Amino acid sequence: MNAVLINLLYIISSILFIFGIKMLGSADTARRGNRLSAVGMLMAVVATLLYLGLDWWMVAGGIALGSIIGIVAAYRVQMTAMPEMVALFNGFGGLASLLVGAAEYIKLRDNGMDSYLKLLEAQSGVTVPGWFVLVAIGLTILIGGITFTGSVVAYAKLAGQISGKPTLFAGQKLINLLMMAASLVGIGLLTAGVDSEVAFISGVVLVILSLVLGVLMTIPIGGGDMPVVISLLNSLSGIAASMAGFIILNNVLVVAGCLVGASGIILSLIMCKSMNRTIGNVLFSGFGATVQAAGEVKGEMKASSTEDAYYVLEAAQSVVFIPGYGMAVAQAQHAVKELAELLEANGAEIRFAIHPVAGRMPGHMNVLLAEADVPYEQLFEMDQVNPVMSTVDVAIVIGANDVVNPAALNDPGSPIYGMPIINAHEAKTVYCLKRGKGTGFSGLENALFFGENTRMLYGDAKATVSALVAEFGK
Ligand code: NDP
Repeated sequence: MNAVLINLLYIISSILFIFGIKMLGSADTARRGNRLSAVGMLMAVVATLLYLGLDWWMVAGGIALGSIIGIVAAYRVQMTAMPEMVALFNGFGGLASLLVGAAEYIKLRDNGMDSYLKLLEAQSGVTVPGWFVLVAIGLTILIGGITFTGSVVAYAKLAGQISGKPTLFAGQKLINLLMMAASLVGIGLLTAGVDSEVAFISGVVLVILSLVLGVLMTIPIGGGDMPVVISLLNSLSGIAASMAGFIILNNVLVVAGCLVGASGIILSLIMCKSMNRTIGNVLFSGFGATVQAAGEVKGEMKASSTEDAYYVLEAAQSVVFIPGYGMAVAQAQHAVKELAELLEANGAEIRFAIHPVAGRMPGHMNVLLAEADVPYEQLFEMDQVNPVMSTVDVAIVIGANDVVNPAALNDPGSPIYGMPIINAHEAKTVYCLKRGKGTGFSGLENALFFGENTRMLYGDAKATVSALVAEFGK
């Protein structure tokens, strides 16, 4: 296979990646999009193998091992544990980049820089200075190392293996800054040349610094913000892969890495915007450690029973379900779908209102409702549903809290002031399903639960929804 053909195949793979990502934008096409990207990846891997004439058995063994681990992990993971799994896989991507960077450096030390630069010129017709290659190696190691240990900490926080609370100590930001500066100096020293012992030692120090930095940069961030961090680390793993692509002269790795890098950063920014926070606030404010139970609300929450709720629901002409993190915890989505079907058969118009940051990962609610086969046409985004909210007979809030907190609209002193919410409080009657008086992710009290038109249905969301379903069967 010649250079022209391999680059043509790489371009086709890249196009498949781009169309695949585009198709992920809608639940209807997402599965096909995923498959398309996977075909692109397979094509890139096979083309590279044919081109480089690598040791087939070794590579096939690697692919088989990776596939088995991936398939088993994906089948066994609970839907609520998906962010943890993504965190781990990101981390492995970062580790792979770090290892590629380190291996290439050792190869350069063994074979010399000149032969590498000649190979580069022969393969791509590009002449680059040796320092450029060494800086690329340094950055690959730094970003890969940070991504690896940062992702492992994110995983441990989300899985509850370490405390989800931000770990803060005096001088933390300064230490991180100094370590980052030291890492950049380390990359600079690498350019002393592959034969230099100083450069070699600084390379080893760089590996250690990158691994420690990943931990130190992630521990001050609260567990609830981990999805944003994971999305950022995902972006970093893409950038690390793209750097590795520069070192091993692989165009498709550069393109795929840039796609991951760009989409990860865009997703992180969308999540921050939906929480009305900046990326700097997520990374450096220690949110969760500083926010106390604020926003005191006067009045009392009025408890109701599923029997009473049944009579109101039975008479409702329009019902909006507003799912949140509690629905995911309770795994109530199948029961919710059953209730929605019963209400629809009873003549009510059904809508599911989806807030962009409901739950703990982007698309969390969409994924759960899709798993329960809720028709896609019944899912409405916040901006679509809010204008009709005041005409809705019953809003059923299932384990959502922050995303329906009116303080975001009317309390300028609230930490979540300005965050767009679903206006559940405007519905004629609101039923809120939660276990007790627990706050949401932000730790704030919620005036919705104290509203004149609100009734609380206490208990695990799945049990409560199942009890409502049972009422319809009586
Ligand atoms: P919240 O975290 O605000 O509230 C969840 C509520 O669910 C709690 O008040 C809890 O009350 C209740 N609950 C928990 N378990 C159960 C159960 N088994 N049955 C019934 N209720 C239960 O959730 P929201 O979805 O409203 O908001 C998400 C929050 O997460 C936002 O603040 C958002 O900014 C943040 N976030 C979201 C990200 C994302 O990508 N989606 C990323 C990062 C942060 P009780 O204990 O009384 O049961």
